[in-house]
Amino acid sequence: MNLNFNRLFFCALMCAATGPLSAGAAVDALRSAAVSGETAAAIPPDVQLPAALALTESRGVWVDKSDLYKGKEYLLAALDQLKAANLNTLYLPIWHKGWVTYPGSAYAPADPDMAKVDVKLMSWLIDEAHKRGFMVQAWTEYGFGTYHTPNALTDPSRGAILDKRPELTSVDKDGRPYEHIPEWGYFYSMCPVNQASQDIVIALFTEALKVLPFDALNLDRMRFANANFCFCDHCKKKFREDTGYELDSSIFDDPERLASWRAWRKAQVTAFVGRLRAAVKDARPGMPVTAAVWYDTELDNMGQDWPAWLRKGYLDFAVPMVYWSGNDATVDGSAGLAPARGKVGVGISAADCPKEEVARQVRHARAKKMGGVAFWYLNPLLGMADYLKAEVFPTPAQPYAGTRAAKVK
Ligand SMILES: [Zn+2]
Repeated sequence: MNLNFNRLFFCALMCAATGPLSAGAAVDALRSAAVSGETAAAIPPDVQLPAALALTESRGVWVDKSDLYKGKEYLLAALDQLKAANLNTLYLPIWHKGWVTYPGSAYAPADPDMAKVDVKLMSWLIDEAHKRGFMVQAWTEYGFGTYHTPNALTDPSRGAILDKRPELTSVDKDGRPYEHIPEWGYFYSMCPVNQASQDIVIALFTEALKVLPFDALNLDRMRFANANFCFCDHCKKKFREDTGYELDSSIFDDPERLASWRAWRKAQVTAFVGRLRAAVKDARPGMPVTAAVWYDTELDNMGQDWPAWLRKGYLDFAVPMVYWSGNDATVDGSAGLAPARGKVGVGISAADCPKEEVARQVRHARAKKMGGVAFWYLNPLLGMADYLKAEVFPTPAQPYAGTRAAKVK
C-alpha cells in the first residue's frame, strides 16, 4: 500500500484536530528537553543554547516511498530544508509491499517504481544524508508483510516470498490468508511465529544492513497483522504444545484461553526480536535497533510487547505512533511503559495534524523527558519545517537512537 496502515488507519478514525494551542517558549522547552535521561543534565535556564552544547534529541522523519519517487532534485532540496530546520534523523524505507529498495537482493525483488528514478537511489540518498550530518536508519516498513494488492480476486500473487513458500502465510481466525482493509485492499504477511518466516525476515534485514551504510535499524510491523491473527497450522500446533490449549475462533469466547493466547503471542514476537537483535549484532556490531510501535492500549491486540523488548535490551529506542491531535494521555500512557522515558519517543503525524498541534506535541514530549520525536512523513513535514524550526527547533541537537554512543558516519 502506498501508506502505512499503522500510520493512517487510526488517524482516519481519531484525528480530530483540536486547533492551535499556545505557542511555547523555545528556550524553556529546550531546557527541559529530554534526552537520554542521562544527558538531560543541566542546561542553564533562560539562555539561548549554543549549537555546540550537547543537546541530544532524536528529531526524525520517515521518508515514504512516495517521497522517493519524486526524484533526486526533490530529495536534495528536502535534505537541505530538514538540515536548516535542525532535524537530525532520517528513516529510509528498505522493505515495503514485498519489494526492497536496493538492487541485487537474494530474498526479494527490487521496487520497480524506484528503478524508474534510479535503481541505486538508496545508496545515493544515504550518502547525501551523511554529508549533511543526518543519522540514517533503515526503516523496515512492512515487517512480516509480504504483499499488497488492491484486488486479491484478480491478482493471485502473495508476493515473491509467499508465492514460493505459501505454507508460511499468516491466516486469520476465519481462515483468510490476508488482512482486508476496504479503503486500501488486501495485505498478505508471513506467520510471525514460524521460525522459517523469522529466518527470512532476519536474512532480509541483515542483508540490507550489509549492503547499505545505515546507522541504525528501524523496525516496523513487528507484530501480528491484527487481533484476529494468526490461526495457521503452525500456530495451532505450537500453541497446543506450549499451553495445552486448542487454537480456534472460539478462543474469543473463552477469557482464560484468550488471555493465555495473548501472552503467548507477545512471547513469540519478543523471542523473535531477540533473535533479530543477535543477528544485527553479528552483521553490524554496535548498531542501534529502534522500532515504530503501537501505543499502550493496543499491545495485547497486536502481540507487540515493545516495553519487554526495551527491558531485555533487544531494542534501544521505541517510537509509539500516536498520530492524532490531543493525544497526551496516550503518549503519557505509552511512555510510562518504557523502562526509561529517554528510551521512548513520540511518533507525530504531520500528515494529519496542523502545524501548531505538531509543535505542541514536540513540547509535550520534552516536558515528559522523552528521547525525541519522529514525524510521519516527509512531504507534509516540509510544509511546516520552517515553522517548527522557529517554534521548537531553533538550535541543532545531536541525534539519538536510545544509546549515547549512537554514531553517525
Ligand atoms: Zn501462524
